[in-house]
Amino acid sequence: MQATGLIHQLFERQAERTPEHEAVKFQGESISYGELNARANRLAHRLRRVGVGPDVLVGICMERSIEMVVALYGVLKAGGAYVPLDPDYPMDRLAYMMEDSKVRRVIAQRQFSERFRDLDGEVLVLDKPQLLENQDEEEDGNLSIALNESHLAYMFYTSGSTGKPKGAMNTHAAIYNRVHWMQQTFEMREHDKLLQKSPYSFDVSVWEFFWPHMCGACLVVAKPKGHLDNAYLWEEIRNEGITHVQFVPTMLQTFLSEEGAGDVPGLRHVFLCGEPLSAALNERFCMLMNAQLHNLYGPTEAAVFITNWTSDRDTSRSVIPIGKAIPGNAMYVLNEHYEPVAPGDIGELFISGIGLARGYYGRADLTAERFVPDPFSGEAGARMYHTGDLGRWLPDGNLECLGRNDDQVKVRGFRIELGEISTVLEQHDGVNQAVTIVREDQPGDQRIAVYYIPEVSHSTSVSKLRTYLQERLPEYMIPSYFVEMEAFPLTSSGKTDRKQLPSPTLSRLMIGQAYAPPETFIQKEIAGIWSGFFNFDQIGLDDDFIDLGGHSLIATQILVRCEHAFGVKISLKDMLTLGTTIRNLASTIEARLLEETDDSELEELLSEMEHLTEEEIEALLK
Ligand code: AMP
Repeated sequence: MQATGLIHQLFERQAERTPEHEAVKFQGESISYGELNARANRLAHRLRRVGVGPDVLVGICMERSIEMVVALYGVLKAGGAYVPLDPDYPMDRLAYMMEDSKVRRVIAQRQFSERFRDLDGEVLVLDKPQLLENQDEEEDGNLSIALNESHLAYMFYTSGSTGKPKGAMNTHAAIYNRVHWMQQTFEMREHDKLLQKSPYSFDVSVWEFFWPHMCGACLVVAKPKGHLDNAYLWEEIRNEGITHVQFVPTMLQTFLSEEGAGDVPGLRHVFLCGEPLSAALNERFCMLMNAQLHNLYGPTEAAVFITNWTSDRDTSRSVIPIGKAIPGNAMYVLNEHYEPVAPGDIGELFISGIGLARGYYGRADLTAERFVPDPFSGEAGARMYHTGDLGRWLPDGNLECLGRNDDQVKVRGFRIELGEISTVLEQHDGVNQAVTIVREDQPGDQRIAVYYIPEVSHSTSVSKLRTYLQERLPEYMIPSYFVEMEAFPLTSSGKTDRKQLPSPTLSRLMIGQAYAPPETFIQKEIAGIWSGFFNFDQIGLDDDFIDLGGHSLIATQILVRCEHAFGVKISLKDMLTLGTTIRNLASTIEARLLEETDDSELEELLSEMEHLTEEEIEALLK
């Protein structure tokens, strides 16, 4: 049965039952249900005073923190809907999202509040010291406002093929039904702990935030950028006794390839979403871990996910289903005339039911194109959503998802319209035409490659083009390869033949950096590690990791190998802030090694080294 209500009221009811329980834990700090509810209520009162109410959008620009959770509840309690304005996004994209959504109220941490100084509206700085402290105690209580399930709860921007992202508006009814179903099915308990690690700008984070709070469990919030750092996540899962966690399959894959994978006896449920779960990953998981594995499927346009398949731990499976629709929703497999195809035949997946978004903000045209009348439900005015995914019914009544029928891709779990990257690049004066594809030259290693025909009258360089995109697109949309072409290969019908686009080869000219050979033992070892990730013969000391086509997942893998080689742990954040070249990484590692070696040990080592040849020193250090 479908269930309906207001998502924050699930938390309010629980806060009444268990006010003393730990509701959120973040880097050594924690907050009880009672305190979280009171702080969110105080914020909600403030928001009411600046005009927040049903269907009013409120931007949130914050890093992961306890305040972020207060902000989410504060907005919902005030009757509004939250719009994540991820501080990691470039200003240009944030500005577009603000303009498009017409957001006039923003909650930001102090360090990000400057970005909104030109906002024609209200910026509430929610930080320590708390803006919420000097308020009337009466404002600790729950608010009573005329809000119903069909009002909006949140709006997330997803990549748009025409060059601009689009905001999908989701209702309380949709997310309430989802979270309620999760509780009915998986029964989270009071002593359970869920790791909140998905970026709050992706809809998969929504159930992470709200599910634990309907049953008295604790939300353990990962540190900012912690979701990219596998070693940290393992530690957190082990040390905090996490029972529930969510991954995109690509991340789980790298997670399970690390030493000690599987050694997390407390973990009971692992939820995968956003990308296909391969048979190989299902098998590896079942061999290493005892937790249950769930494959969730759904788009941002349908409140996070609509189907679920719980792995039966049959490691001989070659087909991994996405399962069946959860109550209140239906899945159809249709042909181009909107007719059901026979079981086993391939068609497009359509979603119908309570989970559907209201549509795209300010885009009635696109909403009408993607959300079409549903002739099957029998309900007046029912709609169904064109997912653009291909699929088929399996003999056991489950669905299988078989990829896309368009240009939308998933790269490391991030949804990207490749057309958006090409369109933005074509706006650069030095580019006449661009085509973007995802290459998988090594199995499991997806990289974005953009091919472009330059504008003859305007000279440019790869580093200028990369910077141009970095100023406009999030990190996960920046291509690893930029390939200049005179013309694109064409199919017989005159379209660009993507299959014939050449394999990208990096050149020193493209990197724009003179070759500086590694010199010290540590630099040479790091160069050896990097060469396993980049298809480039001579990686120099000053070649930037990003220019070589690196991305955050590669960075974390490099750091794990460095830890094995030198026994020194460097966080991703340190690598990104201290410089992404071999020279910088080597000096960070050297400095850490020195810090960890005590003076007498060092003196002994140095006096021993005086009598050794260079080869002997290298052997010793090794
Ligand atoms: P998003 O809006 O970011 O949630 O992306 C939705 C798209 O991700 C879907 O339309 C699918 O193409 C893909 N997707 C999500 N979950 C799965 C899954 N479990 N298996 C295969 N593809 C998935």
